[in-house]
Amino acid sequence: MTQFVITDRVLEDIRVNIAAHQPERGGALFSFPWTNWVVDFLYDADAVTTSSTYTPSAWLISEVQKIEREKGVHFVGVVHSHPGGADRPSGPDHEAFRSNLHHNPHLPAFLAPIVTKDRAADDGAKNETTLGASSRMTSYVAYRSQPGGPSEEAGSMLKADLGWFPRPRSGQPVRLEPAQIDIMSVGEDIAALTDQLETCPGGSVRHRTGPPVALGATSFLSEAIEFGDSSLTLLISSGYPMVAPIALVSTASGQPTHQVHFNWPFLHEGDRSQIWSGLLDSIKAAIQQTETGKQDV
Ligand SMILES: [Zn+2]
Repeated sequence: MTQFVITDRVLEDIRVNIAAHQPERGGALFSFPWTNWVVDFLYDADAVTTSSTYTPSAWLISEVQKIEREKGVHFVGVVHSHPGGADRPSGPDHEAFRSNLHHNPHLPAFLAPIVTKDRAADDGAKNETTLGASSRMTSYVAYRSQPGGPSEEAGSMLKADLGWFPRPRSGQPVRLEPAQIDIMSVGEDIAALTDQLETCPGGSVRHRTGPPVALGATSFLSEAIEFGDSSLTLLISSGYPMVAPIALVSTASGQPTHQVHFNWPFLHEGDRSQIWSGLLDSIKAAIQQTETGKQDV
């Protein structure tokens, strides 16, 4: 089963913009280039929808290209909702997946989750993700079929004449597989960190999510947190939370930004309360050092 990692922020955007409303609605998903790490979502506010169809708008298509240019992320798929418990792609959906793969030759695969408002995810179904109390997202990934290879529901696909993007004149049918979604709890963890930074000397904490940062071949989410005279930039890689973020700290105006090293726990499922304690200790020590330095002058 193909695996994708989706940040909790993207899931929350999908919940608020799609799962919390009547079907059908949809939006675009973005990953860092050449990865299965989904880091951005754009709700298609301009789409023409009915209770049983969703067709992406021209606005979404042009906006996708703009976001790819500006943020350095890749369009990787479309999430949309279905009525009732219809958690399988329809015939027109198959045609749309094929069209998307045709018009995005750089995409090895097309991610296509379907949101339904019937129940929470079944724990045993690896391609289901809970979105709120009684909604779920069932995820699929579409591949180009090899010539002569198997295709799922090719017959129903060919009957449809609806495409999300302009329909290609010819093309192979798509092969569809369930996709496993792992959730990266970055939004929740950063909120916990800003809460804990309130206990540091210096007053209020201001946080903003920065643009993605590419260093060499590795992409990072960036978080900028200011507190008192100090600022902290966290660069979070796809290995998070197994791999610690890079922490860059500036402790006073005019001071050079430097990397702080800190203890990072080996995380166990469900036990995240202590993840920032090593970082907080290192930041407090850095501030203390600056204060001592000031007194020496
Ligand atoms: Zn559909």
